[in-house]
Amino acid sequence: MHPRFDIAIVGGAAAGTLAAIQHLRQAATPLRIAVFEPAPRLAEGIAYSTQRPEHLLNVPTGRMSALPDRPSDFLDWFAARPEHAGASREALAHGYAPRRDYARYLADRLHDARQASPASLEVLPWRIEALAREADGWRLSSAQGTALAERVVLAVGNAQRPLPVRGSGALARPRLVDAWDYAGVAAIDPAAEVCIVGTGLSMVDVLLTLDANGHRGRIHLLSRHAMLPRAHSTNPAADEAFDVDALHPLGVRERLRRLRQGMRDAAARGLPWQAVMERLRPHGQALWRSLDAAEQRRFLRHAVRYWDIHRHRIAPEVGAILADWYADGRLVLHRARLDMAVAGQRCVQLTARTRDGRSLVLDVDHVVNATGLELRVQAMRNPLLEQLLGEGHARPGPHGIGLDIDAEGRLLDADGRPHEDLRVIGSLRIGEAWETIAVPELRVQAQAIARAFTTAQAAAA
Ligand SMILES: Cc1cc2nc3c(=O)[nH]c(=O)nc-3n(C[C@H](O)[C@H](O)[C@H](O)COP(=O)(O)OP(=O)(O)OC[C@H]3O[C@@H](n4cnc5c(N)ncnc54)[C@H](O)[C@@H]3O)c2cc1C
Repeated sequence: MHPRFDIAIVGGAAAGTLAAIQHLRQAATPLRIAVFEPAPRLAEGIAYSTQRPEHLLNVPTGRMSALPDRPSDFLDWFAARPEHAGASREALAHGYAPRRDYARYLADRLHDARQASPASLEVLPWRIEALAREADGWRLSSAQGTALAERVVLAVGNAQRPLPVRGSGALARPRLVDAWDYAGVAAIDPAAEVCIVGTGLSMVDVLLTLDANGHRGRIHLLSRHAMLPRAHSTNPAADEAFDVDALHPLGVRERLRRLRQGMRDAAARGLPWQAVMERLRPHGQALWRSLDAAEQRRFLRHAVRYWDIHRHRIAPEVGAILADWYADGRLVLHRARLDMAVAGQRCVQLTARTRDGRSLVLDVDHVVNATGLELRVQAMRNPLLEQLLGEGHARPGPHGIGLDIDAEGRLLDADGRPHEDLRVIGSLRIGEAWETIAVPELRVQAQAIARAFTTAQAAAA
């Protein structure tokens, strides 16, 4: 007999855990819920599995609640911890908590929701490899077994981009280390010469660990555009005078012009440029959806890098560490396209081409892949996604990024028909929603999917 559930959640990191919490909280009947997650602990995933204290959230504590109806819930949890006794609540709200604490918080809230719910939750350590249609739902198959579920939430999260270069297939740990391999990065000798490929937030994580380990060797940062993430301001205000609605009818070029002007106007009123980005923050999805397909392509081709470094910022104290490293010459920034990586006896030789056509050769002890998230669904190397695409249950999202879904998160099949009983949470919604990766979006998606699924279950009972 195969186990049978009302709701199956595939993936049990942050998004899957938020979905489980919401189903448990909203259930009015003894629903049977299952989370399928091969990792040893729920709620961690890529972002929150780090045990390194220097890896901080990139969203202030006051905005990281798991629950849309209790906006200060994470702050309450964090402030109640013994190590914060006597700390100013205001300072904690605007600060950046260690990411490892966030997994503990989610696990606590899952525990609370389980205790208070009439529903039951089972966690199975299975990696689901295929979903097949059944008369009343879906059959979920994995090497460990098969289960049946009436409704499925797909929460399979992020995939890392492979190092985009000839020769990298022949490199292995410890010469080639992934930025999300936190233990691998921590094991790098402090005297080693290191090249980090990619200059986004994953690169910052790597640098912080090297810094915490007293790294002395030279660090090369290499990326095609060599643009570093900007820091948050210590003034968290949003510029309420900036007219967001006026952006909607405009194309990308004109929007950028308005943004730059808005930042100058903000400065004239004593506000940091970040205040304009803060004003845009709740409107990210609407701004993306109001671009037509050609303008979205233009954004992806020409503006996305500028958007990313201004939108996904680092804590001010982290920005200060980066500036120090840069100033004392330990950090060298290269604007170049990596061509080849060749493993030697002792080192890795990297060959790259700079913007002005020069050849750049670096001999380093380690190369770290910090190229970030793979957005193209066909390159994610997740067998479940390949099966869903191959059998026509799904199709790639707009511009080939993520999966094609509707605004309620229903997965669309190869003919564009929505699956009422198969919904997607998180980064796979990127083509439709753009802003869909961070907790402020995940918690709202989890709540909405749980509302739809628990209502449908109650109606069918
Ligand atoms: C380094 C990093 C730092 C971040 N920091 C922040 C932050 O400070 N604040 C913020 O709001 N957001 C942050 N984010 C955004 C982050 O993506 C989300 O907050 C969140 O962690 C995403 O969780 P997820 O569950 O969607 O994905 P993931 O963490 O990628 O987890 C997906 C899970 O699905 C499981 N899975 C995959 N395929 C299957 C399958 N076939 N069967 C069963 N299970 C499967 C995997 O084992 C994994 O546990 C960060 C992201 C990264 C990469």
